[in-house]
Amino acid sequence: MLERKPLFPNVIELNHQAGHRIGCCVYLIYDGPKWLLVDIGYEDTVDEIIDLIRELDFPLANCQTIVATHADVDHVQGLAKAKQILRTTVTAHRKAVAAMESGDRLLTFAEIAAQGISLEMPPVKVDRQVGDGDKIQVGDLSLEVWHTPGHTDSQLAFRLGDLLLSGDNIFRDGCIGAIDAHHGSDLGDFLASLERIRQSDVGWLLPSHGPPFRKDNGLIERTIERVKTYLHMADFGTCAVDWPLMDEWDRELAEGRAPE
Ligand SMILES: [Zn+2]
Repeated sequence: MLERKPLFPNVIELNHQAGHRIGCCVYLIYDGPKWLLVDIGYEDTVDEIIDLIRELDFPLANCQTIVATHADVDHVQGLAKAKQILRTTVTAHRKAVAAMESGDRLLTFAEIAAQGISLEMPPVKVDRQVGDGDKIQVGDLSLEVWHTPGHTDSQLAFRLGDLLLSGDNIFRDGCIGAIDAHHGSDLGDFLASLERIRQSDVGWLLPSHGPPFRKDNGLIERTIERVKTYLHMADFGTCAVDWPLMDEWDRELAEGRAPE
């Protein structure tokens, strides 16, 4: 038996519990003997995670569901295996279903051929689809589902009282989840999701990568201002809405301006 090290009442994070980095954050939310997981990570870490849960004295049969924050390989590759071992259900946003059920290796970032990244993405059935405002129960606790698109169109966050399990929306250093056109990123949606988090009265953000941190509106505002600049930068390709240099060039071409 291991001593439980909850980050907050009713919330264990398994990297924190293990004392070393296993992968993405895996939150175990529990009330009495009932529990659920938010994300599972890569397949090759599923055994370590389930062993840990067993040593923490959570009956494996009491897993209510495994919730996917979104359909990226580093969050959901292990779902099929974990679902089979735990004999539980999988919960995700409806926009994550097609990629998860087909094991889409492009949409999930499992296959990035140009970088030599080629991972398995075992298909997994999504048993329950949730959307904004839905509740996910565990014992007497209730996670409020927030749909926070931007990083992907299926990105979810979950409010539990003063805590927001904030997914890949923002991390402690102000970074945000990767922006990639192939992956359904949308900068306008991302800004709206960040603004929603900024305006909320939650006290703590529990992200899907890195340590939890106190919600800091200054940090979120700086990130929002940075992301706003991406809307008009060629660096972000088809995710940008425009590129002002092209308008300048149009004017200069019409004027017949010579190089200065
Ligand atoms: Zn991620």
